[in-house]
Amino acid sequence: MKNIFREYHLIENNNYVYMFQKNGLKYFTFTKQEFEINVESISELLNDNLTERKKEYNINEVKENIEMVHLTINLSSSCNLRCKYCYIDKSDSNFELQFEDIKLFIEKSTRYFHDAKHFQVDVTGSGEPLLRFELIKDIQEYLKSISNEKTTYSLSFCTNGTMLSNEIIDYLESENIYYGVSMDGYRKVHDENRVYFDNKGTYSDILKNLKKINNQYIGAALTVTNKNLNLVKNLKTLEKNFDVTSMKLVRETDVDKGALTTMNLEQFKNAYTDLYNFLLKETLSMRTKYLIMLLSGEDLFGRFLKRVFINQSALTRCNAGISKFALENDKKVYICGAAGKNKEFQVGSLDVPITDQNVEYYMNHQVNDSYCDDCYAKNICGGICMVYKKQLEQKNMIKNRSMCELKKHIIQLVLSFRHYIYTVSPNLYQSIIGLCLDKHNI
Ligand code: SF4
Ligand code: SF4
Repeated sequence: MKNIFREYHLIENNNYVYMFQKNGLKYFTFTKQEFEINVESISELLNDNLTERKKEYNINEVKENIEMVHLTINLSSSCNLRCKYCYIDKSDSNFELQFEDIKLFIEKSTRYFHDAKHFQVDVTGSGEPLLRFELIKDIQEYLKSISNEKTTYSLSFCTNGTMLSNEIIDYLESENIYYGVSMDGYRKVHDENRVYFDNKGTYSDILKNLKKINNQYIGAALTVTNKNLNLVKNLKTLEKNFDVTSMKLVRETDVDKGALTTMNLEQFKNAYTDLYNFLLKETLSMRTKYLIMLLSGEDLFGRFLKRVFINQSALTRCNAGISKFALENDKKVYICGAAGKNKEFQVGSLDVPITDQNVEYYMNHQVNDSYCDDCYAKNICGGICMVYKKQLEQKNMIKNRSMCELKKHIIQLVLSFRHYIYTVSPNLYQSIIGLCLDKHNI
């Protein structure tokens, strides 16, 4: 019999054995004990589940699977704050998109993806979107006017939270517009980073505004640096005011801004292990609110957890250039908002925002990125962010794999989490799958 184990990467860690298919899409977790005792049935399971990773996709295959399209619009590159880790070029704020440009972008994108069911229009941009609140209202009216049974549109954005007046809060609530607020967890760290022009911290003002919100479902966007690595404390603090939390790491290239490095990698790993232990304890005690907060957003831990619970494999890191596009204030279209106005990531203009050639290219480019060739975790991770990879190359840091090491650590944690819950409480396991499917469809 063929040695089926050769078809898999086998990773052992603590009490677990993780199996990741090398050329396919499957992954499994076993305890070491199960692995030793049930080797026959495990090899049958592995054999029966062999799949093939497709290497080449044509435009029809790509398009027929697109139900949701993300359009990002850089509404404002001006900002009323001067956050320490912000990388946006503030000299850029003289150019602003007009309502007609935005309408044209949405209209042409709709025509291109005529079978898509939903368009998520995100007006976050590179500055503070609420500086153009009147325009947000116009866009919302426009989206409502073009929504129909076949295609729906929704508006969302992320704000720094300092401009949330009663009028704005009431409007957003009455229109059911989803928004996130940037908060760096607890006060001390937040006030060191997220400051006004005069260096004054913004925590108190934001908190005052959050207290005015009644029933609106809102999210927190938190930037993790080596200064706020107590992720459990972050989560507990944010739980008081938010329904959703997305904890994202500051870019690894921003070493001076508290980024993850080879030197502090263990510290970051320990922070996620602590989060894992906390979540496991809470969830097993049937307190799932923290888990739900992470599953609902774009959190790194939450994203991987969702994927493993619903047994989903990721072909790509993201949908940038495939079903996600950004209109910049130069009226050109790029693969996503984070691409800024980097010509390398430009895919179109207002005349022709999206083309078959580009969509097909970005799908195949992401699926076949050689950066991830030998990585056992790619079925769950999906791969490297294209924009981030470019920054690593530009700073001669491409060999730095700290982020990958951290991601692999988190992936092992979420796999253990799933296996542990499955073993201890099959009912709880099923209800978490339900939660993940629910949040997956948001
Ligand atoms: S962990 Fe790193 S190498 Fe592995 S798939 Fe993710 S980005 Fe690629
Ligand atoms: S390319 Fe990077 S920044 Fe852009 S959407 Fe993908 S993961 Fe996000």
